This record gives sequence, structure tokens and C-alpha cells, in this order.
Amino acid sequence: MKALKKFSHKSLLQTLFSMLVVVGVATVVLVGQSNDSASAGISVADMDRSVQPGDDFYRYANGQWLQKTVIPPDRAGVSVFAQLDDISKRRVVALIEDLVKSAPTNEGERKIADLYRSYMDEAGIEANGLKPLQAEFAAIDANKDKGALARALGAQLRADEDPLNYTNYHTANFLGLWSAPGFDDPDHYMAYLLQGGIEMPDREYYLSDSDAMRSLRDKYRAHVIAMLKLAHLSEAEVRTDRIIALEHAIAEKHWTLAEDQEVRKANNPWKQADFTTKAPGLDWAEFFKAAGLQSAKVIMVWQPSAIVGEAALVRSTPLETWKDWLTYHALEDHADALPRAFAEDHFAFFGREVTGVQQQSPRQHRAIEEVNLFLGDEVGKLYAARYFPPESKARVQAMVANIVSAFHKRIDAIPWMTADTKTQAHAKLSALYVGIGYPETWKDYSSLEIKRNDLLGNELRSELFEYHRALDRLGKTVDRREWCMTPPTVNAVNLPLQNALNFPAAILEPPFFDAKAPEVVNYGAIGSIIGHEVSHTFDSEGAAFDAAGRLRNWWTPADFQHFDAATAKLVQQYNQYRPFPDLSINGKQTLPENIADLGGLLAAYDAYRASLNGKQAPEQEGFSGDQQYFIAYAQSRHSKMRDAELRRRVMTDEHSPAEYRTDIVRNADAWYSSFAVHEGQKLYLAPEDRVRIW
Ligand SMILES: [Zn+2]
Repeated sequence: MKALKKFSHKSLLQTLFSMLVVVGVATVVLVGQSNDSASAGISVADMDRSVQPGDDFYRYANGQWLQKTVIPPDRAGVSVFAQLDDISKRRVVALIEDLVKSAPTNEGERKIADLYRSYMDEAGIEANGLKPLQAEFAAIDANKDKGALARALGAQLRADEDPLNYTNYHTANFLGLWSAPGFDDPDHYMAYLLQGGIEMPDREYYLSDSDAMRSLRDKYRAHVIAMLKLAHLSEAEVRTDRIIALEHAIAEKHWTLAEDQEVRKANNPWKQADFTTKAPGLDWAEFFKAAGLQSAKVIMVWQPSAIVGEAALVRSTPLETWKDWLTYHALEDHADALPRAFAEDHFAFFGREVTGVQQQSPRQHRAIEEVNLFLGDEVGKLYAARYFPPESKARVQAMVANIVSAFHKRIDAIPWMTADTKTQAHAKLSALYVGIGYPETWKDYSSLEIKRNDLLGNELRSELFEYHRALDRLGKTVDRREWCMTPPTVNAVNLPLQNALNFPAAILEPPFFDAKAPEVVNYGAIGSIIGHEVSHTFDSEGAAFDAAGRLRNWWTPADFQHFDAATAKLVQQYNQYRPFPDLSINGKQTLPENIADLGGLLAAYDAYRASLNGKQAPEQEGFSGDQQYFIAYAQSRHSKMRDAELRRRVMTDEHSPAEYRTDIVRNADAWYSSFAVHEGQKLYLAPEDRVRIW
């Protein structure tokens, strides 16, 4: 089930998914929180007022919370996102348990219950052993030449990448597909091809010289050997060394995360007929035929040199090595659907070693994750009906309107931007679709077969169902209001090619959004998130798309130069942060998120000020409205993480760690006046050094 997982997220404020992805769903127990009962305002008990806000605002707002919070053994970290995810999961558990207990009233409910049952059927899974994979193993074994290999690699292509809406730039399969609006023709879906082929989280895990990565690679080797031995494969060590050498060679061809994000570099429409000359080494005709893509005349290639490199490796690497690679990947990618020993070894490496999580979450919770993953809209329909009242939707919609209007005003106020560029920016903002709570239409799963006692089959069919859905829509008209998230997801997203935002129901909960909380706290928490997503419309990636979602330069050269110079300052600011002595934040890799954080903080602040209509916000325990705004901002971002996980995030995540995201406040003039921050304090920036973008 790895193939369809969404690894991390372009717009997610805290990449909760990546925290959970390799370890399944976290424990459904509220942990490390103190805001639950006090969610109607800022939590003074969480603060450390012995710290000067101008020295360390994150600890000033969260110091006590950081001290008293203990990371549970089955977690890589604790955050508001994780807390809300617990609540959402608990609700989904309740929904599914109701369905399992009572007779389902329709086919969708029946599928939810049966997928869940198939995941929980551990005795059946144990008894089946590797039988469910025998057909796949036989097919791998039957590959007699490189033409057959090309067919096998084409047949495993799945719709498992999403570079723009999720930061999902590679898959464990050889390559991956994204079916999305075209860069030059956003009214129609087209096929994007992206790099793949490695199991560890990123190329850096194979290539980095750091001691941490060297030691992790030794453990990876031991893990692959163990998986092959469990499958009773001969010469496990020899095969493992070949597999890892191949993955290493693939990783060398991969683009870095910072390169992946440069959308203009990704706009490479290749005629299908040209692949053979552009990327020799793979029988592309066989590949595309097996993938069902033969009628796609033009395919967008996101990382051309990686595709060229991977195709060349098909020719230069012996067939036997590729067969070992296919076998190992089949075991790894479906480890949870195999007997316990496989699932445990998978967790021992990808959970314990890669993320630092000590203990695997209970199977029931991973079953819930599975149902959310493969039948997300079916579950979402039930969730939205039970947990997202129309009043909440109306309140959030009103906030969105205020923040969008604040953003319009900020555009007007930019001193260096020409009227032409401003007109286009306004047009883009006005065309933005903002989805609140749940989608306008639901995905139809009627052609997906789900069986009560066939977990692996359910996973393979679900992946294929999504793939066929992706293929079927190629060339058809884009639905700009289609969601890429389900209501129980604790997340938010900006979809640049659709010029749209999604705010699922599960993130519109306390402490982000609380109908009982003072308005200022809602603006500091969910308001800044809404502002963050709106700002993605104009971040270093978003700025490349126009109002219709077309990849087009709508800037005057001088304006774009100004924008580039301002964002370069932000890159420098973040390059200076060092979470570890040997590892600093990559200011370029985190740039779009940092721009969005800055824009979101400022736009929501303006919207909050405007909502006061000249009145003063009520004080809370001696804190002024403005102070509450910034404290609510910092508290809704608190997070505590294990070192291994923090390191993985710094290397693979587009988001900066929570502490440094909070430090974005040092660019906001209002923060200085709210807390009397002055020269000499650690976070102080002279007015001319503060980054001003939107
Ligand atoms: Zn974001």
C-alpha cells in the first residue's frame, strides 16, 4: 500500500502524513496536550514567560508545553496536527465500528467494513503466507529479456505521485504517473511522468556522507537481507548488494528536492515517439503499452535527466538484478499485507530506524489508515455528515472572505509592483476556488472490488482502480472543484493548476478553529493557515501559474526581479538556522513554505485588525489582542520530535521545523511593537533586513 501513500505535503503546515506514513496510524489517544480544555483562548500554562519573546519566541509561547510533553513510544513526534489526527481517527474508528456491527445499508458501507475486516484478518494473512504474491513472483521470474522487463516496469506504473499538491516527487516503483491539468493547457488532464525506484525516503539517504546516513545504510542492508531471507530466497546477501547498488545508481540520477520544486524546469512535454531517442535503454513502446498509455501522444516529463538515467540503467544493469529489485520491492511495498514477520521487519527499519518511532501502532489503527487511503471519499461522506455542522462551514467561509480581501489590499500596497502585474494578481485571487469542509461531489467507487478476506488483493485492486481513474480522464475537461483531500484529513492544500484551496473538515477543529474562542485566536491559528494557503497562490511556485492555472509568466521582468530578490533574502534567513551541528535548514528547499508562512501571518493579521472595526480586542490574562494573535500563531504550531525524525524532515520536507516556522514572526513589524522587541535580542532584525514579499 506504499505506492499510493501521500508522503508529505506541499501545503501541510505540519507534515503529519510523513510522520505516520511508514508506521501506520498513530495511537488513538490524546497525548502531550494541554490545550484541550483551554482551547477557547491562548494557553498561558503552556508558555515560558522567563524567556524573552525577542530572544526565542517559540519557547516563550511553548516552553512549558515542550517541557511537559512526552513523545509516546509509537510516535515520531507530537504536534497539534497529531492531536487533531487522533480525534479524527477516533471518529473514523467509531464510524467504521458502527458499520462492522450493523448491516451496511449500501455498497459503499459494505466496502468500508470489508476492507477493514480484511486488514484485521491477521490469522488469515498468516495462514496464506506468501501465497498472495506468488502470481507476482511467477511473473517476475518469467521475464526472459529486457523487452519483458520493460513490460513489467510499465505494468507496475501507478498514479502514485503528485509533485504540486503533495511533495511527492518519486515512488518506489520504477516510475510514477500523475494525471493532472496540463501546464500549458490547464483545462485538460494530461500525463506527467516522474522518477522512481528507491525505497528509502530520498536520494540523500543513499548519497549523503554524514555519519548518520552511513550508519543508516548499514542497517538498510541488514533489513533487505532479512526480508529476502524471510521470503526464502537463496544468496540473500549477494542479491541485497545488487539491489542496493541499483537503488544507489538510481538515486544518483534523481533530482534533489530543491530541483524538483522548480516547476519551470518540469515543463518538458515529450512526444511519446521521442522517448526512444531522448531516453535510450528502455523499450518505451513496450513500457507504454503495458502501462495502458499508448494513446497519450505527449507526456510531461518532470525530471528529464532522471528519466534518461533510469532508462539507461535498464540497459546497463543485468536482468537478474532487476528481477531481484522487483522481488524485493514487491515484498517491501506490501509488507503490511504479508505475515507478521515481514510487517515487523518493515517497521523495524522504516519505522524505528528512519523515523525513530519505538513501537508500532496497533493494527486496528493501521486498518483505519488503509480504509482512509483507499475508500477516503466513502468514509469522508459519513464523516462530514456527522461531524461538520453547516454553522462551522459558514464561519470559516466568512473568515476566508476577510483574509482574501486583506490579501487584495496587500497587493495594492506593494510599492514596487507595477499596475499590470497587480491586475493579474488580483485576477488570480478573484478566481480562487476555496473548498471548505468537504468536496462538492464524491468519488464513485462502484467499479472497485473489495473482498472481506483478501487484503493484498484489495490493495492491488485499489491501486489499479486509482490508476485507471487517472488514465481514463486524460484529455478530458478538468474539474477545478475536485478535491485532492478527504474530510477526515487534518491538512489543507493549495492546488496551483486548479487555482483552488481545500480545507478538510478535520482541520477546522479546536485549537485551530473554535466557535467558542475569541476571534483573534481563531485568526492567529486557522486564519494564518488560511492565509498560508492563499499565499501559496503567490509563492515561488504558485507565482508561476496564472488565474486559469496555466504555467505562464504574468509578471513584468522588473517585478519578477523584485520578487526574486525578496525571496532570496528569505532563503538566506533560513539557511542560517541549524537544528543540528552538521545539518542546517535548506532555505531554497523550504522557500515556498516560508513565503506562505510569512504571507499567511501578515494577511490574517490584517484581516483580524479589519474585523475589529476600530475597536480594541478584549485582553486575556493581561495579553493584548495583538499579543494573543502572535501567541496563538506560535502555539498552534507547537511540535516536539525525535532527533531521527527531525533530521529526516530537515532533509526531505519542504517545511521548516516548527520552531523556525514560528521565527517567521521576526519579519512582521507588528510583532516588534506587540512585544517591545529591540535591538540586541536574538530574533531582532533591523527594519531593512525584514523580508517583505506580499
Ligand atoms: Zn504550505
